[in-house]
Amino acid sequence: MFVFGPTILILLPAIILAAYAQWKVRSTYTKYSKVDAFNRITAQQTAERILAGAMITDVTIEPSQRQLSDHYDLTKKVLRLSAPASSSLAAIGVAAHEAGHAIQHAQNYAPLSLRTAIVPIAKFGSQLAFPLFFLGLFASIPSLVTFGIIAFSAAVLFTLITLPVEFDASRRAIVALRETAIVNEEELGSVKEVLFAAALTYVAAAAMAGLQLLMLLSVNRRR
Ligand SMILES: [Zn+2]
Repeated sequence: MFVFGPTILILLPAIILAAYAQWKVRSTYTKYSKVDAFNRITAQQTAERILAGAMITDVTIEPSQRQLSDHYDLTKKVLRLSAPASSSLAAIGVAAHEAGHAIQHAQNYAPLSLRTAIVPIAKFGSQLAFPLFFLGLFASIPSLVTFGIIAFSAAVLFTLITLPVEFDASRRAIVALRETAIVNEEELGSVKEVLFAAALTYVAAAAMAGLQLLMLLSVNRRR
């Protein structure tokens, strides 16, 4: 930490935003996991209806174990839901969002394809960036420092491309929920709250990554 000195304060807004987003997503999810949709449709049925409405027949829906571990696995075309039998607005909203990812995949939505393509580079980048950067710094090998910064930029790029992917999946979820009348307008407002809170965590992650990059650049310039 000491090499960063006061530069580490750059991260403060992102740390605050991340903490707020975590609290917001937990509290909103908890609140709406206790409120059932008027027509008692389940999360599983929600996903099935939205997929059927989008003419998607090759995606299977499976239960996932942990809470808030819902995701769409595009390599296996599997949509995993943590609360498939729940009729809560939180579970329905999350299921609709994941179905939104399945629709993006089926329609070859460009930001999703791009994000998938850079996953290996971003993973490699986020794991090696800091070790390379510090090794370069302490051993005075500028090219290693530069390589560390480039590697971290790939991780930053990933968090940025994630934003349109996530916002678009939620937008598709809202449209589908309205079209299929799975929830009424008032309930849709609550679903939007859940999805907005979830989106905020991605904004916080992107802000954190961006500011970390800024921190590496400013430490490098000071040396
Ligand atoms: Zn998502």
